[in-house]
Amino acid sequence: MSIRNRLTLWYTSLLAVSLIIIGALVYSVVGSILISVIDDRLSSQAQEVSSLIQAENDPFSVMALGRARLPSIDIFGSQYYIQILQLDGRAVQLSENLQGQRLPLAEALTSDLAADEARYATAVLESGVRLRVISAPILLAGRTIGIVQVAASLSDMDDSLAGVRRALLVGSLIALLLAAIGGNILARAALRPIKAITETTQHITDTQDLSQRIPVAVPTDELGQLTETINDMLGRLDSLFQAQQRLVADVSHELRTPLTTIQGNLDLLRRGAVDDRAMRDDALRAISDETARMRRMISDLLLLAQADAGLQLYLQPVEVDTLLLDVYRQAQMMAKDVTVRLGAEDQAIVEGDTDRLRQLLLNLVVNALKYTPAGGEITLTLQRNNGRVRVAVADTGVGIPAEDLPHIFERFYRADRSRTRPGGSGLGLSIAQWIAQAHGGDIEVESRIGQGSTFTVNLPEAGATEGDV
Ligand code: ADP
Repeated sequence: MSIRNRLTLWYTSLLAVSLIIIGALVYSVVGSILISVIDDRLSSQAQEVSSLIQAENDPFSVMALGRARLPSIDIFGSQYYIQILQLDGRAVQLSENLQGQRLPLAEALTSDLAADEARYATAVLESGVRLRVISAPILLAGRTIGIVQVAASLSDMDDSLAGVRRALLVGSLIALLLAAIGGNILARAALRPIKAITETTQHITDTQDLSQRIPVAVPTDELGQLTETINDMLGRLDSLFQAQQRLVADVSHELRTPLTTIQGNLDLLRRGAVDDRAMRDDALRAISDETARMRRMISDLLLLAQADAGLQLYLQPVEVDTLLLDVYRQAQMMAKDVTVRLGAEDQAIVEGDTDRLRQLLLNLVVNALKYTPAGGEITLTLQRNNGRVRVAVADTGVGIPAEDLPHIFERFYRADRSRTRPGGSGLGLSIAQWIAQAHGGDIEVESRIGQGSTFTVNLPEAGATEGDV
């Protein structure tokens, strides 16, 4: 059964139970009010008969003779039935409308006719008429000398109660019907967003289009929040899916270039270049370079994949000045016609992974060498400032166009693809940035076309939180 129908059923059932309880209460209250009105009247009638008998000159003989005077007002009316009994149960007088029938005695009275309290009972005559009967003692000088019984038909009250019952029943049925219809409409309105969620997610599954979003009706309610959560999740899935697609496209594109070069050189060798020593050496070198580039790229990709999966760093105190000196020497060896200089160098220690930090700095230095034409200059500096360690790699190279600056740290992004980039994979800066961030730092870049670029790595200094050393 659908939630909507279940909700409607629950709602209607609860209302039905409430209506039954309220109906039963109303019915019994009305019933007891009507009965007490009748009882009051019966009581005053019984009082009247009692007084009449007491007023007789000799009530004892009245009772003994078995002839009492009944109040004239109601004897012939059909409203009240009157019966006077002696204490032994014999009838002294019956009102005519009883036509010889005896009124039943209240159960309690059958054993104790001399009881000095009035009793009420409901009885059914042979004719099927329901009667309310009061049985009251006739007292004289504190003694019970007989019993007066006055009865009235309950048919009027029964009619009234039947009317009340009908009204309650019809009213309840109408209320239940309205509740069922209204409840169903309300449930449908409340569950409409769920329908939208189901339809949209179904559509997304069918079309595999993760760019769709579920419309949010009321952002503040529970379903609105659920919808927004699902939309956020869709957004994340969408960007992950796109990133994955981009990665697959980039990787296949990047691998195709070296493979094409290798394939071309192999063809060249097969066509006879083996005999020409210089050509053969060139072809073999190209094959070797491209293979090395592919290997670098694959190990870079592997590292980034591990980084995505939460690769653990082995942190220990690292002397950044010593590390920078190492990198500086390596840069000098790699530099052909570019000058590499060491600028200001403070002493500084960071909590870090030496190999990763070296890789970070080398990536920046390799880029600087790559994008700085002959005659240029590369300067490495290290400064401590306010608990931060700033390592800068500045070059006087080609610079980076402003529109590319926000993207250069993205995987496989290359500014100006026409520029040759021997050995480049477009992953160097992504890795550098991941390493900096994994150490609680970041990388800033400033660049001017034709004038050069400066990459600055900011790292938190070891123990800096306990005070600047
Ligand atoms: P690549 O392997 O292409 O160098 P990177 O991720 O290391 O990949 O760098 C991304 C892009 O940023 C490069 O393609 C280049 O356009 C630009 N770039 C990086 N460093 C420099 C630099 N020192 N000077 C000029 N451009 C740079």
